[in-house]
Amino acid sequence: MPRDLVGLPKVHVHVHLDGSYPVRAVRALAGRRGTSFDVPEDFPDVWEFFDAYSTVPELVRGLDDLATLCEALVHAEAANGVRYLEPAIEPQLYAPRLGSLRDVTRTIVDALQRAGDDAQIQVGANLTINTDQDLPIAHDLATLAASFAGRGVTALGTAGFVEPAGLGRFRDAAEIARSAGLQIVAHAGQTGGPDSVREALDDLGATRLSHGVRSVQDPALVRRLAAERIVCDVAPVSNVRLGIVSTLAVHPAPTLIRAGVPVTLNADDELWFGSSVVDQYRVARDLWGLTDAQLADVSRAGLLVEGLSEDTRKSYRRALDDWLDDQ
Ligand SMILES: [Zn+2]
Repeated sequence: MPRDLVGLPKVHVHVHLDGSYPVRAVRALAGRRGTSFDVPEDFPDVWEFFDAYSTVPELVRGLDDLATLCEALVHAEAANGVRYLEPAIEPQLYAPRLGSLRDVTRTIVDALQRAGDDAQIQVGANLTINTDQDLPIAHDLATLAASFAGRGVTALGTAGFVEPAGLGRFRDAAEIARSAGLQIVAHAGQTGGPDSVREALDDLGATRLSHGVRSVQDPALVRRLAAERIVCDVAPVSNVRLGIVSTLAVHPAPTLIRAGVPVTLNADDELWFGSSVVDQYRVARDLWGLTDAQLADVSRAGLLVEGLSEDTRKSYRRALDDWLDDQ
């Protein structure tokens, strides 16, 4: 009997909040607005994906709606065996429509923490700068993130589809967050090649990557990621759905894993791709042929994510040992 993948302890840390609310919760919200919510079967190009993506924040008309969606996400992830959830949050998608950036952030973080306590999992948040945004906004977001350090925000991220993204210009913003103890996480190596990854590491000072998969084009870079223990938060199904990789069978993640790069598996935007964090592990087992020992190594890479508390690390290790003992 193969071991149960829900029971495998997992971090889930490349999860865009607004693209990951449970579909049932979004449908219920749409119903309250007198409209319906449908997920397209396919996205002919990435811009159609971004258009669809923005429809969900538009359905949210009050801070209560936002809190309800955040809580639903945490409970769904806990049911997937996620022990540490760190959604990427963009309060700028809701402010100033629903309130100030600070009010929106407080609502999101409080709802995530409350639901995490209920579901008995640890929840952090990666406050994310979109690389299209101007420097003053990035500076404000970094300052905001720093003020929530120790109160639910665990990381500062950058996201944007165009890579390399000139991340060096956000270095001062990253420094504000880093001095408050937040981990710096950058989207890189998704549409951009090894240059975008080196930019994230050297120009921004990121210590974790969202995606990073295109690093495989440069063996020296892969060796560096392994040696410096740079976690790549890989999202296989998302990569195929957005045309980054042609099929799951040829996805670069197994190459990175076998080269010793710490890789976590993530859904990215489950609402739009219909594929959960557990489904990514199924791909790893069924399509890439990872053994349970190798799946446990992937799970263990999650312990390198900085936001985990000591208590979470302890219970996570215990759960992983139990999973491996379970024959
Ligand atoms: Zn992403």
